[in-house]
Amino acid sequence: VPGSAPPPRTVHTHCPYCALQCGTRLGHALGEVTVTPSAFPVNQGGLCQKGWTAPEVLSTADRLREPLVRGADGRLAPAGWDAALDLVAGRLREIRRAHGPDAVGVFGGGGLTNEKAYLLGKFARLALRTSRIDYNGRFCMSSAAAASNAAFGVDRGLPFPVTDLGRADVVLLAGANPAETMPPLMRHLDRAALIVLDPRRTPTAERAAVHLRPAPGTDLALALGLLQLTVLDGRLDHAFVRERTNGFEAAWQRALPWTPERTERVTGVPVAAQREAVRMLADARRAYVLTGRGAEQHSKGADTVSAFVNLALALGLPGRDGSGYGCLTGQGNGQGGRELGQKADQLPGYRMIDDPAAREHMAAVWGVEAAALPGAGPSAYELLDSLGTAGGPRALLVFGSNPVVSAPNAGHVTERLAALDLLVVADFVPSETARMADVVLPVAQWAEEEGTLTNLEGRVLRRRALLAPPPGVRGDLEVLRGLAVRLGEPAERYPVEPREVFEELRRATAGGRADYSGVSYERLDAGEALHWPCPVVPSGPAHPGTPRLFLDGFAHPDGRARFVPVEHRDAAELPGRDLPLYATTGRVLAHYQSGAQTRRVAGLTAVEPEPFVEIHPDAARRAGVTAGGLARVVSARGAVVARVRLVESLRTDTVFLPFHFPGDGRANLLTGGALDPRSGMPEFKVSAVRVEPVDVV
Ligand code: SF4
Repeated sequence: VPGSAPPPRTVHTHCPYCALQCGTRLGHALGEVTVTPSAFPVNQGGLCQKGWTAPEVLSTADRLREPLVRGADGRLAPAGWDAALDLVAGRLREIRRAHGPDAVGVFGGGGLTNEKAYLLGKFARLALRTSRIDYNGRFCMSSAAAASNAAFGVDRGLPFPVTDLGRADVVLLAGANPAETMPPLMRHLDRAALIVLDPRRTPTAERAAVHLRPAPGTDLALALGLLQLTVLDGRLDHAFVRERTNGFEAAWQRALPWTPERTERVTGVPVAAQREAVRMLADARRAYVLTGRGAEQHSKGADTVSAFVNLALALGLPGRDGSGYGCLTGQGNGQGGRELGQKADQLPGYRMIDDPAAREHMAAVWGVEAAALPGAGPSAYELLDSLGTAGGPRALLVFGSNPVVSAPNAGHVTERLAALDLLVVADFVPSETARMADVVLPVAQWAEEEGTLTNLEGRVLRRRALLAPPPGVRGDLEVLRGLAVRLGEPAERYPVEPREVFEELRRATAGGRADYSGVSYERLDAGEALHWPCPVVPSGPAHPGTPRLFLDGFAHPDGRARFVPVEHRDAAELPGRDLPLYATTGRVLAHYQSGAQTRRVAGLTAVEPEPFVEIHPDAARRAGVTAGGLARVVSARGAVVARVRLVESLRTDTVFLPFHFPGDGRANLLTGGALDPRSGMPEFKVSAVRVEPVDVV
């Protein structure tokens, strides 16, 4: 009927934020977008406050609606799409001509759909011919990925469905705080007794049967101590170690010096509490060891996770139905993002870029010579650190990331971004990084696009569009094709239909460790639960996917898991006279990542409006700061101004800051660029700082 309102519409999709990927029903009626949780297994009708309020970001007042180009006056001004893309492609060609292909870098994101992550990697390697591509997932769980690959031969955050946790008797959470970061997960932990390792008394620790509070940076020592106690107390699963693993003896030798007493001296965790944790895990019929960012974001992050995996192996947990080890991946598509080709050292399907067979396979899918594919580039922080330096990239394209807030050593990273000849940012809001850009490209967001993501349990999910993007806004796939064509690539190499990209992605991942070749939009739309690997089957029934890995054997050629021998070492910097406290960073319930989205939601900013620092009352007294006042937190790299919160349960030597806030509230002004040699993970969780009242000059 002419003039009547469009009919109401509903789609089944998923929350735009964290890796739990809660299922939602999105409705659109009378101009309003509404969200209700669905019965999807991971959330079973629950959502956190971020999920409930996600539609607000769709209509945020400062939504980017047209390309912006920085003019001679230094201001960003509207430009047409053709003008903006012509300008970017022209500048990229000039820079490449003058400095070579590696003078152009690409920085992706763990929130990009599988299709975008895949096409971004292809664009970098074919259209730009650069090795300089990495993504913010490197900051998220790369150390756990390295440890899982080493131990099991493959990395899938949880090698079992989330719902399996509901059968557990005991769950050890090392540096994970799901009660705040992914609350619906907690309903799967209701039945289990929790052992929580965290220097803070988090909402998750509040629910723990045992809360171990290691000094920041000592989780690895604690894990070694727990391994020693497992053996000393006669809890080693000899049969499992003998029949399903290799390398126990070497790992055990490294744990030998970690007597319970020494472990207590170094970590601060009492012997009795160590012993109780081991007893609970060993007595449980079903038990899990899970790691989160608290254990992973260290310059020894991969070794720390390896130590926890060793503990899980010694107890005989991985590869058993109802028990295991897993990593609680953080970002919405942290899993898909790391296995589909936007990581510096990987090609799609979790293939390593320096593997000749992997290069041949991808070259065949892409219709190019393997020799033309670039090799491995530097990891995310190394890439950012090299921007604008001799031999480093002169131009950077950023898709779905806000490193000005989320990168470590953020003040330095901001300087490096400012030193570029060309910074291009594709985003849907003017993030802090977009505000620095020479060209800003406005792109569609979650409820306006089709695609797939892979959640923390390796389950491939459909994202569905409820709305068309606003006029003037394009999809990332369309942007990539627009740039690629201008750089001389054939248009058909860069499909703009997500389904078409997914079909290519299936071929690309076929035979890889993360094999999606048997997954299709049709199967997902029919409601099938497909966890990778899900290979295509030439004839007969389709592969059902693999919800549980390792039940019949681990992914190493001999089917056995590996103990990885690791040693404790100190954090890159420790508190001293001038900087007497540990600072550790993390997330709060109301915000997600750099806050670029959640800081635009009124209900969330009402809960957490500003940067804060948690500090023990004794430490506050010594520092001369008071509850509710402003404090300056200073490290060797920068200073943060934050509101003081006194927290009795915090260690007296430790302060905590959330990293979601911009400007001089950026917690990452404090963090440093020390990297884990195995994974490139930065040391987000340990910085040496002092706290002072803001009026101290
Ligand atoms: Fe679920 Fe995570 Fe979204 Fe919260 S942010 S609703 S836990 S997916």
